[in-house]
Amino acid sequence: MRLIDSHTHIFAEEFDYDRSEAIQRAKDAGVVAMVMPNINSQSVDSLLSVAQQYPDYCFPCMGVHPTSVKNNFDDELASVQSWFAKAKFYAVGEIGIDLYWDKTFVEQQKEVFRQQLKMAKKFRLPVIIHARNSFHEIFKIVDQENDEDLGGVFHSFSGSLTDYEHIASYGKFLVGIGGVVTYKNGGVDKVVQHINLANVILETDSPYLSPVPQRGKRNESANLVYIASRIAEIKGISVQEVASVTTANATKLFSLSNL
Ligand SMILES: [Zn+2]
Repeated sequence: MRLIDSHTHIFAEEFDYDRSEAIQRAKDAGVVAMVMPNINSQSVDSLLSVAQQYPDYCFPCMGVHPTSVKNNFDDELASVQSWFAKAKFYAVGEIGIDLYWDKTFVEQQKEVFRQQLKMAKKFRLPVIIHARNSFHEIFKIVDQENDEDLGGVFHSFSGSLTDYEHIASYGKFLVGIGGVVTYKNGGVDKVVQHINLANVILETDSPYLSPVPQRGKRNESANLVYIASRIAEIKGISVQEVASVTTANATKLFSLSNL
């Protein structure tokens, strides 16, 4: 079985004491690649050092996360822009709008999100979108920016079937399914039933959102098997089929070669 973790923050300090062991456990569990979305200008050093240490396994992305958008958002955007000129990245991410934690900078979040969508189109890279309590605001912007050059993933998808249909209608957008699909009251399981596997990639969002039976502990990429198994159970197909289809989807979306 070959799996791809399309969203992990393995470069985060939560892994500083056992990163190589966590990567080995992921390899042992069949994970053949990790996609690493950036957080902000402060996380770039560790992001790139992990990418350098694990070439052809840990693939870095560049962007500023919505919860890092404050008054200095211009500096953060300039940092993102400058990094694209200096290194290879596989996506613009993670970007988006988060109105769960703090609504103070909602206008700035919208602007930074739009600017990064434009960068993705310019560089012909996919985007990794973080949407929390913000589908309305995000859809409004993507409706305006979407064109044949734009594609990507709505990561840690936990929306309704209507939200999913809106995403699928864009043409080149997928949904990232993570640990929430294993939660009893998550609601994602009922939506996943109706989602076409051709539009799905798998993710852990580690160190966050551990799936059952690891819920409450630090998450890591080896736990991807629990997510794949739950999706297989919901859809009544084999876990091998979930693995092969979602791995092909992620390979294509992020243009990963040499896996
Ligand atoms: Zn994330």
